[in-house]
Amino acid sequence: MMRQCGDCQLCCRLLPVPPLGKKGGERCKHQKFGKGCAVYHKPGMPPECAIWNCRWLVNDDTDDLSRPDRSHYVIDIMPDFITVNHDETGEKQNIQVVQIWIDPKHPDAHRDPGLRRFMFRRAEEGKAAIVRYNAKEAIVIFAPPFDINGQWHEITSGMQSVKTHTLDEMMAALGGEARMVIEP
Ligand code: SF4
Ligand code: SF4
Repeated sequence: MMRQCGDCQLCCRLLPVPPLGKKGGERCKHQKFGKGCAVYHKPGMPPECAIWNCRWLVNDDTDDLSRPDRSHYVIDIMPDFITVNHDETGEKQNIQVVQIWIDPKHPDAHRDPGLRRFMFRRAEEGKAAIVRYNAKEAIVIFAPPFDINGQWHEITSGMQSVKTHTLDEMMAALGGEARMVIEP
C-alpha cells in the first residue's frame, strides 16, 4: 500500500524554504494544524515544495523506518555534498551525502538503529550522511564501509561546506563518484 503523510507535517517544519524566508526548524506560515499545507498545489505554493519529496513517503529503501513525526527525522530525497580537506596532502574532495533533517527537540534521533542501517547501505554506495539541525549546524556521519577499521565516525567540526548547496553547485562539485576511506 502506498504510504501517506497522514497528520505528519514534519518536513514543513524542519526544511528551509528560501522563497518564503523560512529557515530550517521554523514553522511555515502556510502550515495549518491538522489540515496540512494551505497552499498545496495552489499558485502560492513554492516550486521547492511542489517538487520535494521525503524518502519515507516514496519508500525509497525505508521499509523498516517509522513515519517522520514518530522517528523525528526526515530523509531528504535531494542529496547534497560536503567538501573534505585531506590534512596531509591539502587535497580537497567532494563527497555526496544523504541529507537527514532532524527535529532539534530530538537531537539524538539519528541513533535510530533503522536509520543507522539505512546509512550503512548508503555508505556501501559511497555516500555519507549529513544530519542537519538547520542550514548551518550539522553532523557528518561516515558509516563503517568508509573506514578500513569498520568504525562509525561522527564529525561535528573541521568540515567545510556543511552549508546547503544549490543543484548547480552540486553538479559542478560531483563530477564523478566520490569515495573516501578514513585512515586511523
Ligand atoms: S515528512 Fe514525509 S511523511 Fe511527513 S509530511 Fe513530510 S512528506 Fe509527509
Ligand atoms: S508552503 Fe506548504 S508544503 Fe511548503 S513548507 Fe509551507 S506548508 Fe509545507
